[in-house]
Amino acid sequence: MPRIELLVVQPTPFCNIDCRYCYLPDRNSKAVVARKTLHNLFYQVFASGWVGDCLSVVWHAGEPMVLPIDFYRDAFRMIDRLKPAEVAVAHSFQTNGTLIDEAWCAFFASQRVGIGVSIDGPKRFHDRHRLTRAGRGTFDRTIAGIRLLRRHEVPFHVISVLSPASMAAPDEMFDFYVEEGIEQVCFNVEESEGDHVSQSFREAGIEATYYRFLSEFWRLAAAAPGKITFIREIEHAIQQIIRPSDAPFCNQLVEPFAITSMDWAGNISTFSPELLGLKNSAYENFLLGNINRDLLVDLSRRPNFTRMLSDIQAGVEMCRERCEYFSVCGGGEPVNKLAENGSFVSSETTYCRLTKMRATDLVLDALERVRPSEALRESAFCG
Ligand code: SF4
Repeated sequence: MPRIELLVVQPTPFCNIDCRYCYLPDRNSKAVVARKTLHNLFYQVFASGWVGDCLSVVWHAGEPMVLPIDFYRDAFRMIDRLKPAEVAVAHSFQTNGTLIDEAWCAFFASQRVGIGVSIDGPKRFHDRHRLTRAGRGTFDRTIAGIRLLRRHEVPFHVISVLSPASMAAPDEMFDFYVEEGIEQVCFNVEESEGDHVSQSFREAGIEATYYRFLSEFWRLAAAAPGKITFIREIEHAIQQIIRPSDAPFCNQLVEPFAITSMDWAGNISTFSPELLGLKNSAYENFLLGNINRDLLVDLSRRPNFTRMLSDIQAGVEMCRERCEYFSVCGGGEPVNKLAENGSFVSSETTYCRLTKMRATDLVLDALERVRPSEALRESAFCG
């Protein structure tokens, strides 16, 4: 039986800004998910028997904060009424941060909403890519939002998309986070997804540049305990490398329905959340059905699901056979394999070489340089 761990809900495809590397095709559409559609989703999810003790819900894939707070008050109340008493639901928003104000902070705090803010480091890096529709930088508004979160003591992390320029400046990036009181950071590298072709991936020596950046950033964080408490890439690599040998690795991205995504119209997809909204005739745009017309528990019988599953699993098997990092990766991200290699039935990508291989190398290199107990103590800052 599938187990839904993460539900990605698109309340609207609309985004109030226009980042250069955005892959979302409908970000100009102001459509909003209907209350009935949300009801059908959560009713079916809880009735499916596919949910364990805890369900994470991420409101994402458009800018969630363009909708009014009352929309979420109502939605959260409805979800609370629908959920079985024993299931804990944890909500989070992935936001560009430009619309955060006092009222949103009070709402986040009262509802314990987890917040991820997209900011690409100091203004000179951020404003190269994260622009308004008029082409102006959004840094000032995003950092104002982050400062408000801090003032209201709302816990948050940031996601920074690294460019070759910011990767060449780990000290400047580190100083920026520390000066702004940003303690939890996640690094993404601009990816090829859908029609978007990553410029970073074309850079010669990008893997060595990424390794050097992460290595120096980690060194700076270890030298200033308590400033940066979480670096996702390091933390994840450590967790996988030092896990007990009998603990299986679970890659949610290749497990059917572990990540279930719904767009504003009620269309359902699974595996990589980015697949929702991409066009692809071979897999019928990765849409398995619609929550307003179909039963969630029937979607695994759809021919396009069977095709996706079979191809994704074939790609995982190729990874298992060929890749020495398989035990810490579990077969990577289907959306990146499709974008970079043209097929789910494939293995290595630039994306995985950066985010899995080089991050793992870095932690293994550090473990080799110091005795394990010291390495673990040094990494304790990661929380
Ligand atoms: S690191 Fe890349 S090639 Fe290796 S298992 Fe992961 S996705 Fe496959």
